[in-house]
Amino acid sequence: MTSTGGNEKAAVANYFNGVGFERWNKIYGTTDDVNSVQLDIRKGHAQTVDKVLSWLPQDLSGVTVCDAGCGTGSLALPLALHGADVAGFDISQAMADEAARRYDAAVAAGAREAAVRPRFAASDLQAVSGRFHTVACIDVLIHYPQERVNEMIAHLAGLAEERVILSFAPSTPYYEVLKRIGELFPKGAKATRAYLHTEQAVEAAFNAAGWRVVRRDLTATRFYFSRLFEAVRM
Ligand code: SAM
Repeated sequence: MTSTGGNEKAAVANYFNGVGFERWNKIYGTTDDVNSVQLDIRKGHAQTVDKVLSWLPQDLSGVTVCDAGCGTGSLALPLALHGADVAGFDISQAMADEAARRYDAAVAAGAREAAVRPRFAASDLQAVSGRFHTVACIDVLIHYPQERVNEMIAHLAGLAEERVILSFAPSTPYYEVLKRIGELFPKGAKATRAYLHTEQAVEAAFNAAGWRVVRRDLTATRFYFSRLFEAVRM
């Protein structure tokens, strides 16, 4: 595991434009060239995406959504196909390009075109501006320490009109021990530093921004664990 020191963003962008792109593009795909750990993470992540979709109305016509750290579009694409007006941003150009490619591939394979074509761009989430009905940020915060997460939550809340849906890897005594003994992030599985966050700290960041957490869930498989929060204005 490589320490990213004080320059997490450069290291994260570098990783997700290179070996991280190769690795996560496979995990977030459908091909069978994944090992058992990657397959477990794929299944766990799919559960998180399904939960987010189940928290939102079926018909999202006219709802603007910002997917911050959109990756290959696992959430952005179904949202767009449910009618949402989606803007996906990712610090990795390779990820943003792959999300756009997957949308075109889905349409070419027969999916109905979205009412509004989703737009994908390379951007640090803290450089995103504008206003969106809903802001989502799924499985991104694991790359950042708490103080950076606090700034990110404040920024994401400032972009949102109605709700923020965000997930993070929860810090609990159990997960901290697993992380320390290398059980959670098996050797070779990661190249960026991983940070776990306590629920209290993440909730406090929302509260400081004038938002409150109204819904929460946890997805936990063998190698994937993600705490999901929905927050609204106080
Ligand atoms: N949210 C996607 C999903 O759930 O399918 C992708 C999750 S992936 C583990 C983390 C993603 O966050 C990567 O695509 C990475 O490039 C992106 N990312 C990390 N830091 C970011 C930042 N500061 N701004 C925007 N994207 C970021």
